[in-house]
Amino acid sequence: MSSAKGYAHMGEEALSIGADTFQFFTRNPRGGSAKALNTADMEALGALMQRRGFAKIIAHAPYTLNACAADDGLREFARNTMAEDLARLEYLPGNYYNFHPGSHVKQGAEIGIEKIAQTLNAVLRPEQHTTVLLETMAGKGSEVGRSFEELRAIIDAVELQDHLGVCLDTCHVWDGGYDIAGNLDGVLEEFDRVIGLDRLKAIHLNDSMNPLGAHKDRHAKIGEGYIGTAALSAVTKHPVLQGLPVCLETPNDLQGYAAEIALLRTLYQE
Ligand code: FE
Ligand code: FE
Ligand code: ZN
Repeated sequence: MSSAKGYAHMGEEALSIGADTFQFFTRNPRGGSAKALNTADMEALGALMQRRGFAKIIAHAPYTLNACAADDGLREFARNTMAEDLARLEYLPGNYYNFHPGSHVKQGAEIGIEKIAQTLNAVLRPEQHTTVLLETMAGKGSEVGRSFEELRAIIDAVELQDHLGVCLDTCHVWDGGYDIAGNLDGVLEEFDRVIGLDRLKAIHLNDSMNPLGAHKDRHAKIGEGYIGTAALSAVTKHPVLQGLPVCLETPNDLQGYAAEIALLRTLYQE
């Protein structure tokens, strides 16, 4: 969702399609500046979430942010954006801020990892109430975070690790070569061995338009891609993933999301 219509409105919209969590962009996903701060609206959403028993929600950083850009100015933009977003999220305490770790663009993954950790070390505050999530990436182009090892290396280089978690995107890990359709248990065991399941805080549930390991990052509707409905339903039902917020990022309108939520809830009961 987009925060353009306001925070409380997003909460009502989520309820109207049978959701008890949602993800929203903190600002235009392909732009930069945020709209005026409306703390009353944010607090109204917080009250609604409490009243209606929401799970934690996910604020998503803009795609334009690259925490490991070679250019100093671009890295400064990433730092400023993240710092401002995190300051604002203090009006909705206890939720998640998810970002794409970055693209190293010819610098190499090792330098990318180092710069991402530097950015996080510059913006994380001991007193903050938001957990920052590194999203698992498909490995398109020079994306950092294409493997569990890369995410672990970022976490290892961050000082305030208590404020860090991981968001697992089913399309991205599939495109990254992790066979969640054929061997979900094995992928989660690997996640646990490399990163630790205690770091896994949220799921992006998407089908993929491309086969395993394609490194493309094209989301498909549930059941209309290579992962398939049964495997995606199995993700929602897996014992070690219970209680995590699950957000759809499928190419849908509101009615499409309502139908996918209804389908997944029905399959969950089976
Ligand atoms: Fe994302
Ligand atoms: Fe995602
Ligand atoms: Zn994606």
